[in-house]
Amino acid sequence: MSFKRSLSKSFLAIAIAAGLSCAAYNATASEHASHPHWGYEGDAGPAHWGHMSEEYAACGKGKNQSPIDISGAQDEKLADIVFNYKPSRINILNNGHTVQVNYDEGSSIKVNGSEYKLLQFHFHDPSEHTVGGKSFGMELHLVHKNGKGELAVVGVLIEKGKENPAYKTVWANIPGKAGEKKDLKETVNASDLMPASKEYYTYPGSLTTPPCSEGVTWLVLKTPVQMSQAQIDAFMGVHKGNSRPVQPLNSRKVKAEKK
Ligand SMILES: [Zn+2]
Repeated sequence: MSFKRSLSKSFLAIAIAAGLSCAAYNATASEHASHPHWGYEGDAGPAHWGHMSEEYAACGKGKNQSPIDISGAQDEKLADIVFNYKPSRINILNNGHTVQVNYDEGSSIKVNGSEYKLLQFHFHDPSEHTVGGKSFGMELHLVHKNGKGELAVVGVLIEKGKENPAYKTVWANIPGKAGEKKDLKETVNASDLMPASKEYYTYPGSLTTPPCSEGVTWLVLKTPVQMSQAQIDAFMGVHKGNSRPVQPLNSRKVKAEKK
């Protein structure tokens, strides 16, 4: 039990280290990265992640991988996710794989009796999760960690529709080049980026990027938000196709919050 726990902790440490070293690799391509460089196309693409490195083995062998197609979810009376989000300064990074906004301390969610602190949010284009086989224009991931080092990620599906004013400040400051960062005085409140209804699907999954560590609680909100085609295009101009294909559900069950 304690072995398992420390193992999952070390996976998370690797996840964080891999993310950083990959960003550093992109920033200074002449330096050797300590982890193989991965991407979304060709030899570095998702089909190859599992055999690029022993550290990425879960990407190929894991049985609880993310994302998934959400279908056949079982309705259950689950407790609401309690959001306690405050505004954060915009500390935005293009890490070569996505655009990530690191969040100031002091924001959290409560779910399953545990408090998880909001660390960062980032985007995928198109959506990583599909619902009944349907893909969405984009997906927002809000990454949280609790005191045991366990992760909970809130997924927000973004569909093409009206322009979304809540995204304007972040969108106006997307760093165009891998490795580029901007640390601004302007603030964003992550709760403004989400739909009013917080009903959710939940299932046990993984990081959707190498090392694909499992033990991640996924909380995908049922209601999408909208964004204009021009807003989606602006993100695609920086990162296009940074989504892992859906993975087999295997023996897992997806639950749907039903009030
Ligand atoms: Zn993500």
